[in-house]
Amino acid sequence: MFIDDTITAISTPIGHSGIGIVRLSGRDSIKIADKIFASHKKKTLKKTPTHRLVYGHIISSHKEIIDEALVSVMKAPHTYTKENIVEINCHGGPVPLRRILALVLKNGARLAEPGEFTRRAFLNGRIDLAQAEAVLDVINSLTEQSRKTAVEQLSGGLSKKTESIREGLLSIIAIVEAYIDFPEEEIEFPALKEMKKTALSIRKSLRQLIESSQYGMILRDGLKTAIIGRPNVGKSSLLNALLEQDRAIVTEVPGTTRDIIEDYLNIHGLPVKIMDTAGIRKVEDIAEKEGVKRSHKAMKDADLVLIVLDGSESLHDTDKELIDKANPENTILVINKIDLQQKIKLDKKNPPSPPLLKGGKGGFDAIAKISALKGKGIDELKNKIEDVALHGRPANAAVTVTNIRHVHVLKRTLKSVDSFIKEIDKKTSPEFLSVELREALDAIGEITGATTSEDILNKIFTNFCIGK
Ligand code: GDP
Repeated sequence: MFIDDTITAISTPIGHSGIGIVRLSGRDSIKIADKIFASHKKKTLKKTPTHRLVYGHIISSHKEIIDEALVSVMKAPHTYTKENIVEINCHGGPVPLRRILALVLKNGARLAEPGEFTRRAFLNGRIDLAQAEAVLDVINSLTEQSRKTAVEQLSGGLSKKTESIREGLLSIIAIVEAYIDFPEEEIEFPALKEMKKTALSIRKSLRQLIESSQYGMILRDGLKTAIIGRPNVGKSSLLNALLEQDRAIVTEVPGTTRDIIEDYLNIHGLPVKIMDTAGIRKVEDIAEKEGVKRSHKAMKDADLVLIVLDGSESLHDTDKELIDKANPENTILVINKIDLQQKIKLDKKNPPSPPLLKGGKGGFDAIAKISALKGKGIDELKNKIEDVALHGRPANAAVTVTNIRHVHVLKRTLKSVDSFIKEIDKKTSPEFLSVELREALDAIGEITGATTSEDILNKIFTNFCIGK
């Protein structure tokens, strides 16, 4: 991959829409665009001042008009990639877009790799790696809350926090390495004390960031929720009741051309992903034994488990078995059909299984009584679902870590800082202390890309779509 050539891609989704955009970035963007564009006022893009829109036509080498277009010219360095950028706004159909892309390619541009525009923004120093990753999170955000957190990261929230950790580490390194130069001197007590104080505060910040990820990952990927229970207890009715009110995002926007994101709920801004909805809907078709097997697997994989019981019947052995296997920390017992005469009376004096009724560590109440058919108790159930999701949200939600890569990096940094603190107490040699600190510094640098390898970059940017 070269950085000095000119790349291009269709940057809007392929489909039929009002407008589609072919984007170019690189030294020759404007030159290439001039070869295929005739402005209405017969002025070249080269002579157009930066950050202007020009109206005209895209023309083939045989002088055929391909489409009408508005072309924007953005000259380096104040652009997305810090390079010359041209965006051709034409009509948004696959045929005109592909034809224009082909023309641009024929005139000297190269097809961009996935995420290459954003990669260039990073390589040219406009944004750091955490911000580049946030671009993708903004695009993929599932709810308003997810979007907010992603934009916070895009604006440099996480970067600033990790930068202050880096600075802390550098200040300790400065002290330690001063002693390496004078091997005959022992590190004096005030210096040791100061280093330990800084290290402890770094450790605290790291721990807070790691803790925030429990909530952060839910914002980014959704709270994985399993609805389980015997056939006919009302699982699909419950799913429908929930979906009816809160089917997430995209489908609510009339006229959008995007794919429908199915079976995500938006509960008070939290994305909730219902697992195996096909399985729920067809559960009558599968044998009881297979159903139980599936339920156990779902219980293991889920962030939240809703065990649905039919309140109008006494507990079956299968119900009891499910309850016994449940993890009280992430399970809500949903007693359905409360509109009928009740046979199971689950209350705190009459528990089905003691651990469940104690509630999870988060202190949420583990029982919800509903009628999926009549839509009763659904709001209370949603509040309980939210309690589970919010359990672990940082108190001062200033910076929330949402990305598993960042969590791994933070944990590695924490490990080195922890060993540094232990070694300080043992009065280890400065050389040794310096090794731990350098490791921590290298690790934390991977978040913003201050230290990073080609491999990591490839892994990150292949998740992007072409054109971003
Ligand atoms: P699933 O097999 O667990 O998915 O159960 P369904 O959702 O298909 O429901 C089984 C039957 O119970 C259907 O006839 C539903 O109409 C009925 N049902 C579901 N929820 C309720 C409820 O709250 N009250 C009553 N009376 N019937 C319900």
